[in-house]
Amino acid sequence: MKKKQDATKWKLATKLVRGGRIKTSMGETSEGLFLNSSYSYESAEEGEGRFDGSIPGFKYGRYSHPNLAMLEERLSLMEGSEACVVTASGMAAVFASFMCQLKAGDHVAASAVLFSSCHYIITDLLPRFGITYSLVESADMAAWAKAITKKTKLVFMETPANPTLELVDIAAVAKLCKKTGACLIVDNVFATPLLQHPLQLGADVVVYSTTKHIDGQGRTLGGAILGSKAFIENTALPFIRHTGPHMSAFNAWVLLKSLETLPLRVARHCDNAEVLADLLAKSSKLSRLIYPGLKSHPQYAIAKKQMDRGGPMIAFELKGGKKAAFRFMNALQIIDISNNLGNAKSLITHSASTTHASIGAPARKAQGITDGLVRLSVGIEDIDDLRADIETALKAV
Ligand SMILES: *Cc1c(COP(=O)(O)O)cnc(C)c1O
Repeated sequence: MKKKQDATKWKLATKLVRGGRIKTSMGETSEGLFLNSSYSYESAEEGEGRFDGSIPGFKYGRYSHPNLAMLEERLSLMEGSEACVVTASGMAAVFASFMCQLKAGDHVAASAVLFSSCHYIITDLLPRFGITYSLVESADMAAWAKAITKKTKLVFMETPANPTLELVDIAAVAKLCKKTGACLIVDNVFATPLLQHPLQLGADVVVYSTTKHIDGQGRTLGGAILGSKAFIENTALPFIRHTGPHMSAFNAWVLLKSLETLPLRVARHCDNAEVLADLLAKSSKLSRLIYPGLKSHPQYAIAKKQMDRGGPMIAFELKGGKKAAFRFMNALQIIDISNNLGNAKSLITHSASTTHASIGAPARKAQGITDGLVRLSVGIEDIDDLRADIETALKAV
């Protein structure tokens, strides 16, 4: 028998390939896929022991499962968190991280530029339960200080935000939260887990839509909540176990495989994005280019401070509004038109007519989502092909 190593001492790439593995007596090298919802016990006493916690082991799919447990352990090792729970989608992770701790009378503060479903939860759903909210300009630290009061139970932010890539200074907002005791939740999807580390910057909880770069190939929906052992076990798990937004075993198994290649993919996404951002910066067809890796980003200093690289996402506005944006998108021959992101395949999105259509024109205007704005999720194709595709489409505008 080989001695079991302390996985927390491994470097990141090793953690992502080997972390959390549960090997059965079959000796499989690839993680097994366990398609079972429930478990049986050798004796009534063992059943009792599993439920009172004196005998370790699984008891029911809504409580725990080998594939979910492996994924949760691997994600915790990646993020450097004490614990993790995975969910059926990114929105299930966001919603569960909110509802597991909010009650009537609480206040929530959030960055103003938000993914449309997060916007819906905060501005439409929460008020139905007597929970008030403030939306705060990402860059306005005075506004953050004003919005976060003793009544503020939680603070939620996306940075970089979808789709305008606005940034929030995580450490500065974390300091405000520490003063009042608010729980800071960071949606870290756009930075990917590899480029930005909110827990190290003072956040309490990190959430992911694993649907994006973690899956990386557009196959599964999933989400994750990462934080302290106390938060996950005492606050998040009771809510999740009793309401059932858990991830499927198959999706967890796919995501275990995805994590193995995450560092390779994110490096390539960023390499390609940097080249395309430079190319777009030279075009006369654009009225605005937003990329956290470029000095022209309005919050470049914050990007430098809290992100390791510029990331895999670029946003830009074409002169000529929606007509020019549609002409550009329709002229692309390789890059797919989609509303999704975080894929090996490069994807382009017209946010105003798709992901952010439902929030309405006034909210879009407030968030800077103009009709000419497109969001490019840069893939891992050969950069020469991507460059040629963008150049051809720019000519068509
Ligand atoms: C996609 C996305 C979500 C929601 O994730 P799903 O897996 O689609 O439920 C939440 N936040 C951000 C920033 C996203 O991009």
